[in-house]
Amino acid sequence: MSDDMLDLKMFIDGEWLDTTGRRSEPVINPATGASLGDLPHATTDDLQRAIDTSQAAFQRWRIISPLARGEILRKAAQLFRERSDRIARIMSLEQGKTLTESRIEVMVTAEMLEWAAEEGRRTYGRVIPPRENGWRQIVVQEPIGVTAAFTPWNFPAMIPARKIASSLAAGCTCIIKPSEETPACAIEIARALQDAGLPKGVLNVVFGVPAEVSEFLIASPIVRKVSFTGSVAVGKHIAGLAARGVKPVTLELGGHAPVLVFDDVNVEAVARMAAAGKYRNAGQVCISPTRFFVHRKVHDAFVDLFGRAAGALRVGPGVEASSQMGALANPRRLTAMDTLVEDARSRGASVVTGGERLSGDGYFFRPTVLASLHADSRVLSEEPFGPLAMVVPFDDDDEALRQANHLPYGLAAYAFTSNADRIIKVSNGIESGMVGMNTFAIASAESPFGGVKDSGYGSEGGIEGVAAYLTPKFISQSPA
Ligand code: NAD
Repeated sequence: MSDDMLDLKMFIDGEWLDTTGRRSEPVINPATGASLGDLPHATTDDLQRAIDTSQAAFQRWRIISPLARGEILRKAAQLFRERSDRIARIMSLEQGKTLTESRIEVMVTAEMLEWAAEEGRRTYGRVIPPRENGWRQIVVQEPIGVTAAFTPWNFPAMIPARKIASSLAAGCTCIIKPSEETPACAIEIARALQDAGLPKGVLNVVFGVPAEVSEFLIASPIVRKVSFTGSVAVGKHIAGLAARGVKPVTLELGGHAPVLVFDDVNVEAVARMAAAGKYRNAGQVCISPTRFFVHRKVHDAFVDLFGRAAGALRVGPGVEASSQMGALANPRRLTAMDTLVEDARSRGASVVTGGERLSGDGYFFRPTVLASLHADSRVLSEEPFGPLAMVVPFDDDDEALRQANHLPYGLAAYAFTSNADRIIKVSNGIESGMVGMNTFAIASAESPFGGVKDSGYGSEGGIEGVAAYLTPKFISQSPA
């Protein structure tokens, strides 16, 4: 197998299953358009086998101590780190991001496994003082059961790791369907867990036609919890499927993060941070800063500095060390960028930098800054999920907050100011699950990650991440 071909298999009941006797689809390198290998699709029998083995494994896994479960997760984290060079290259090949970004994601993925390993040991219950002497009333936290997870292509290791690690640490078993466009990183997570001693059936990795797989898995009465990361439209559909079986869902959907830049900041420093934050993973990040509302006094200076920093970024294949921004992950994103830029342009927007594809093979789009936008421009209300940043001036604080809050999204928001009163006003007033004040760093293994409004419900990471896979059981005991 050449360096650039991926080992693409499903993992069911502790066995690796290839394309033999199954439908398959090619996995495409977004930097070249070339195939990286053929990915097997699960048959109905495969999916049923995944469900059955998950159920059988759950009965054994749930009674293993959290300490022992954590040891396997920690060992898998260690293996993942040891394999980081190889996995980072796989990630850049299948997803397009730069090797630097891939290496960071590999390390963060290991942290996710470790955090959940530790947090699993702290799934405390409580004792409730009884009303009568001699009684005992306790609450224990039990694993929900077999879980189904669906993950997208933008963070092909970190997002699957969050769901897998939290569910396994809680004592649940997991069937995951990672994105068919970036399957190999989740396969590597399964490999690391298997090598770390994970019993068969505790984790199953399947692929297929997304709508068919999710419909099949969620309809099974054995699956008791669903977790999805992806678009708002698909998230609503998944929530509907789960509702039919009265199953809890964690939904991490899109965002269109506002950034408020007040006139009391170092504009140059904020513009530099904005360029670094915006074009990470070519902007294909649900918490990517997208709508920059900038105080009119500093607006022009910000646009100029931001545009220059964005325009200076070197765009190229993720696996090349000189690239500072990689390819978009799939051709749908390229089409979306073209459409949104064209719409904004036709309504009078100025393209400060970028606004076009790169010529040649691969799904490359230039880092783009748009200004002087008409309020009705689609890109101000539709999540771009790509390397587009929009800058809009504002005159007073309340207007800025109103603009920030007026979309149905509420995942991430950012503000830059040195005024203590504003920090409180904005962080309290903004409608979002996460707020970065003077920073774009808002995600870590130990902090909750999730949104409000159309951006979803439930949190991953932090103590909330493992709690999402537990259900309380109340035990009331009278004297015999
Ligand atoms: P999409 O909604 O079709 O797909 C997103 C992911 O969901 C993919 O991995 C896909 O395999 C999966 N999916 C699609 N239909 C499914 C179904 N019925 N059951 C289970 N899984 C299903 O969109 P896309 O074109 O891949 O991405 C477009 C939009 O999705 C972006 O503009 C962005 O808004 C959103 N998105 C969000 C995130 C996030 O981190 N929240 C990640 C990726 C995409």
